[in-house]
Amino acid sequence: MRRRAVVGALLLFVPAGGGALSGSPILPPQARDLWPGRAVVSRGRRSTVVGHDTAPPGLLDELARRADGAGRRVSGVLGRPLRPLVVVPESKREAARLAGVAGVDGLAAVADEGRVIVVPEYFAALNPTGRDVVLTHELTHVAAGTDRLPVWLYEGFADYVGYRDSGLPVKTAAAELAAEVRAGRLPSALPGPEAFAADGRDPDRLARAYQAAWLACRFLADRFSEGTLVWLYREAQAAGVDRALASLGLSVATLTARWRAYVRDQLV
Ligand SMILES: [Zn+2]
Repeated sequence: MRRRAVVGALLLFVPAGGGALSGSPILPPQARDLWPGRAVVSRGRRSTVVGHDTAPPGLLDELARRADGAGRRVSGVLGRPLRPLVVVPESKREAARLAGVAGVDGLAAVADEGRVIVVPEYFAALNPTGRDVVLTHELTHVAAGTDRLPVWLYEGFADYVGYRDSGLPVKTAAAELAAEVRAGRLPSALPGPEAFAADGRDPDRLARAYQAAWLACRFLADRFSEGTLVWLYREAQAAGVDRALASLGLSVATLTARWRAYVRDQLV
């Protein structure tokens, strides 16, 4: 379980009709104009959570505490302070609309411009560790960006930060992939966009894609260092992943070979 400092989160009701939310200088721009007159704000030490006034009691305060913890974890890896912003819509339909995507089926939260959008139906189904992992994963996307990167690197990096302090054993966090590997089916390539496409018929396939990506980043941190993984992420954004890997004496092919050996070693 996580070690988490307990911080007081102040619950503020934004007065109806007063324009207090949209005009408030204290809310970050990505949270203004949400649900005027019907929004509730909860603040952690560094985090801000904005939700509907219909949100279940205590949920926004819980999110503020967890977002503070997630912010500390992401800051600890990226080396700079963060002010997490979490938005809590009423439903998965509204979450998809806010994120500007067709659907968010099966996702507990999504990263959007400067904010994490919680998907209430799926977030509620997670246990406390899962909630922390998801918030940390999405906040990593928000803070580190995903542009110009292969999907295995940005999803794997977000899970690397997400699971880093979770205390979960690797075979538990990567249970679906471990079952495949034990059955003799070791993945042959780093997961690409098709592996991350939602597949309602086989949710395990999507889980395996995330786990495979996670273990690629975990391998890089174990083999080199966490600082090298963060450097690689930045360098890949600036110069492309091939050049970044070449600086470490790797190509996608040699990384793939070493990652496969690492996956077998970790999961069997
Ligand atoms: Zn992600």
